[in-house]
Amino acid sequence: MRSPTGEGGAPRLPERFLERMQAWLGPEVGAFLQALAGPYRTGLRVNTLKIAPEAFRARSPFPLSPVPWCPEGFVIEDPEARPGLHPYHAAGLYYLQDPSAMAAAVLLDPQPGEWVLDLAAAPGGKTTHLAARMQDTGVLVANEIQPRRASILALNVERLGVTHAILTNESPPRLADRWEGLFDRVLVDAPCSGEGMFARDPEAIRAWSVDRVRRSAALQKAILLEAARMVRPGGWLLYATCTFAPEENEGVVEAFLQARPDFDLVDPPRHAAFDRGRPEWIEGGDPRLARAVRLWPHRGPGHGHFYALFRRAGEERPHRPKPESDLPGRARRALEAFWAETIARPLPEGGLVLQGEQIYWTPMASALWRGLRVLRPGWWLGRWRKDRFEPDHALAMALRVQEVRQALDLPLWDPRVVAYLQGHPLEGPWESGWALIALEGFPLGWARAERGRLKNLYPRHLRTIGWWEVEAG
Ligand code: SAM
Repeated sequence: MRSPTGEGGAPRLPERFLERMQAWLGPEVGAFLQALAGPYRTGLRVNTLKIAPEAFRARSPFPLSPVPWCPEGFVIEDPEARPGLHPYHAAGLYYLQDPSAMAAAVLLDPQPGEWVLDLAAAPGGKTTHLAARMQDTGVLVANEIQPRRASILALNVERLGVTHAILTNESPPRLADRWEGLFDRVLVDAPCSGEGMFARDPEAIRAWSVDRVRRSAALQKAILLEAARMVRPGGWLLYATCTFAPEENEGVVEAFLQARPDFDLVDPPRHAAFDRGRPEWIEGGDPRLARAVRLWPHRGPGHGHFYALFRRAGEERPHRPKPESDLPGRARRALEAFWAETIARPLPEGGLVLQGEQIYWTPMASALWRGLRVLRPGWWLGRWRKDRFEPDHALAMALRVQEVRQALDLPLWDPRVVAYLQGHPLEGPWESGWALIALEGFPLGWARAERGRLKNLYPRHLRTIGWWEVEAG
């Protein structure tokens, strides 16, 4: 537990921050600071692309309590739990996410089949939630400007078995120049001064200053204006931060409403714990700012967030060409041979594209993304090499165990689960060919049977020590 005054080795909260919050929150500030001081409870969002929330709860290794505004969201009640190291995590059954962040997909409310853009997506909490709410249909573009963070985003999108996502590594203006009015819904989870992170990240406390708040606000205004260009007439835009500073919240929304009168601030359906925006905290604040949503750490589970949902006036369906396949004949034949031998569901129609040696299935016509920095144009199926096709880990993670011809489906207690996640070979007998290794019906990755043994193809960079070793050690 961390104290707001900095006892126990944790950095003190900045004096200016305390003064500002005292001035705004008045008598509530005590409860607010106590909540900021912890203890920090991890949120867990069940990946509904793989398992229903009740079914997960029934097998959960951790005690869970519900997040009131998100039926697939829970709080882990055991502070000693290590949910990131559990095999269910490797199987993509859940994403560890702050409960306040779970309100983003609830408020933006994306629908199956829509085109959705998440402009600042890494490490992928809100993107994977949007994908699940869209039932992995339509088009979800997840963009991240920082290359290193973009690769972490890719790991999470793949672990959770999302197939309809395109991952880009671009700046907002470059995307807006290409994708004017293209999306039904856009999320801007903006970089911010991170006051909501104070409870778990001492670095956020050290980096905080009023000057940083002001610089963040200037950047947020610029990003939000670029994001707005990509919303179709009649579409939706959600602005989010994990900070309390009104300059970065109501202030940014006020400036946006003035710059873009074709967007109005929507008063969304709200849960009892969703507080209103505070027009009175900024000079000359538009009364409409009360329609924004503030989540506080002392009024519900989670660190706190700010949300503003906008709708663009008008109604227009942009032209969206269908994705076409551009695989050379030999690559296609290699993929088809693998598919017929290994997988019992049809090969996706259209959208099969080759990038270097890699074969992807894309939900978005390549004319729309060629020339941009694209990390994944869609579902990564595998590699075409020496006229053979080798499946990628991302292909395995989005399959079901019933969809492959050869699988080893293990119960949680089976020591081969850990052995596989650590990269050890598994004993046979096996028919030659590809096999899916699964945990209670949920894929973990590929193995290849050769001479009765299973060669382990679990990616090296994902190999971990198992949670039981951590518990024992
Ligand atoms: N949405 C993510 C999630 O739920 O996992 C968290 C996003 S985080 C709050 C903000 C992101 O904005 C960071 O990943 C950061 O790299 C990115 N960012 C920083 N500067 C940016 C800029 N100028 N334009 C767009 N994104 C930026």
